[in-house]
Amino acid sequence: MERDMENRLRQARPLFWRNPARRPVAACGEVLAAHAPGVAAARESFARFAPLLADYFPELAPCGGRIASHLLPIPGMADAFRDPEGNAAFAPESLFLKGDHDLPVAGSVKARGGVHAVLCVAERLALAHGLVSSPQDDYRRLADAKARAFFAGHRLSVGSTGNLGLSIGVMGRALGFGVDVHMSREAREWKKKRLRDVGARVVEHASDYSAACAVARAEAQGRADRHFIDDENSLDLFYGYAVAAGELATQLAAAGLSPSPERPVSLYLPCGVGGAPGGVALGARLLFGDAAVISFVEPVQAPCFLYGLASGRHEAASVAELGLTLATEADGLAVGRPSRFVGRLMEPLLDGCLTVDDALLLRHVAALYRAHGIEVEPSAAAGLAGMEVLCGDPDGWRFGRDRAATSGVQVAWATGGRLVPAAEHAGFRERAVALAAQKGAR
Ligand SMILES: *Cc1c(COP(=O)(O)O)cnc(C)c1O
Repeated sequence: MERDMENRLRQARPLFWRNPARRPVAACGEVLAAHAPGVAAARESFARFAPLLADYFPELAPCGGRIASHLLPIPGMADAFRDPEGNAAFAPESLFLKGDHDLPVAGSVKARGGVHAVLCVAERLALAHGLVSSPQDDYRRLADAKARAFFAGHRLSVGSTGNLGLSIGVMGRALGFGVDVHMSREAREWKKKRLRDVGARVVEHASDYSAACAVARAEAQGRADRHFIDDENSLDLFYGYAVAAGELATQLAAAGLSPSPERPVSLYLPCGVGGAPGGVALGARLLFGDAAVISFVEPVQAPCFLYGLASGRHEAASVAELGLTLATEADGLAVGRPSRFVGRLMEPLLDGCLTVDDALLLRHVAALYRAHGIEVEPSAAAGLAGMEVLCGDPDGWRFGRDRAATSGVQVAWATGGRLVPAAEHAGFRERAVALAAQKGAR
């Protein structure tokens, strides 16, 4: 990768990186065709399980067991986005938040990928052991005592910075599985408590996310009654996330917005290992083609996806080599190495990456609350913070103009917050004020 970019990453200051390997979708037919069936299958699997999910989670009953979020207009955020000259960057009515911060069951975007991954394990076991007779069967049979007793003989395990564990734990325990969650040092105390409350075993690690995953993987190795859900390698997770793009397409159409290359939809996706944003990006490319401009957003201390992609070394590249620490308020994004396969898959599909610092994240957490009363966790404000960086950076702004992105719809993907205790939310806002004061004093 270019020396200059490496130096800029080392400095841990917000930046925009344009992906030089991006290809028009016309040149990506093979990749897209290879993955379209997986996305369709995930959509169908959610539909098969919907009646069972509606029985297990009262919050899902009103929508028939569908795990979905709203697309929220956020015109009140327009002031935050300025071009390099200081002019308003976007029309207020072009601004939207995809409300995955408020997803039922897991309270984060992991309610898509994580829940789908658990459903895949349950379905494979159920079909193999005759708990259901076929995919056309009524999956509510999996709530029978016999099925639950069977699942109780199996354990799911996962490595997590917090939210994935929460999703696997809540979904896995609801079906009756034993669940082991290996938490990295970033994981918040309340997430561990919540997991213990639903009967999951929480293993605390003093190490980072990749190391916690490695322990979980090793523990499950070679055992038919253990199922490791591999965030760094799992297609089940990935396709679960990808389903979200279809939901977005429906919502945009309902709002009278149909993206075109002249007026594209811009997606700003918070990125950890890359599974969630990668899945959404894949889904969006399948549905919108080149009428989507897709950027991933990472903390300045954990730009693993950008580094893996720009260096071409993917999961072999660790941000530790850049002297970065993973220290960030965005615990859901505190990852030092990207997914093994998502980086390669995204190479021709992704438009760019953005990095953001904690002050920017917290400022957007606070601004979103002030403008619209919406509470998100810092990771989930990365999309909004990334939009600010894109506009203010001369290269970013030029890129946006080139792609006509600045005249289209802007969608910041909010990824978590629903389950965060009120006192934690208040703490984020207090720290935003303190950081702003510090900056003012300098
Ligand atoms: C996990 C997570 C992400 C990113 O997902 P990855 O698959 O790790 O890239 C973003 N935001 C929140 C709140 C998350 O929990």
